[in-house]
Amino acid sequence: MRLRNVKGSREAIADNEYCIKDYEGRKGKWNEVFGNDNPIKIEIGMGKGTFIMEMARRNPDINFIGIEKYSSVLIRALEKMAKEEEPPKNLFFIRMDAEFIEDAFEKDEVSGIYLNFSDPWPKNRYKDRRLTSGRFLARYNNILKKDAAVEFKTDNQDLFSFSVEEAKNSKWNVEYETRDLHNTPENEGNVMTEYEKKFSALGNPICKMIITRDF
Ligand code: SAM
Repeated sequence: MRLRNVKGSREAIADNEYCIKDYEGRKGKWNEVFGNDNPIKIEIGMGKGTFIMEMARRNPDINFIGIEKYSSVLIRALEKMAKEEEPPKNLFFIRMDAEFIEDAFEKDEVSGIYLNFSDPWPKNRYKDRRLTSGRFLARYNNILKKDAAVEFKTDNQDLFSFSVEEAKNSKWNVEYETRDLHNTPENEGNVMTEYEKKFSALGNPICKMIITRDF
């Protein structure tokens, strides 16, 4: 994603009601933030938030948290929330590098993780920074409930191959795998992300994998 420094975005985020600042203090207590015990699903690297806002609208009995590393991107999602006539009550945001995800969530606190069009980090020396690397999967293992899934979409074939391999090497189960999501029956109900709209309009097939683990 091309990043532009958006002037004042840090300050705007600090005051925003949809953005949770002291996420470390909420660890194990996210149900208090939402005021119910509904399952919590998170999207890591949610960009401008189109996907997670639509997911929250379609699934009022699930709580959603969007995580984004950069204020200048997150601010766009917060602006969208502000423009909504009825912003979804089951959605909050955190500005955080996912490297520290275990500081925000307790073991078994998360019922699902969405990774959409994650940055590819094409150079091999940066492969551990990919959000589907074994290093990140180990972090996800420490916050996910048993049977919870990680769902990953991308149009990047190399990143997809890496991700499927990495999941298998880390002993996760690949429950679902396609390199052409939009032409499979499983596409029904698919919520498109901003990148997904952009790249599928260019004719790029969309890959998706769903992984779970037994440990
Ligand atoms: N998910 C959106 C979509 O599909 O339209 C945005 C995709 S964009 C290519 C990747 C996003 O992930 C960027 O907004 C980037 O800032 C964010 N990101 C990358 N690494 C991250 C990390 N370690 N923690 C949190 N967000 C991250």
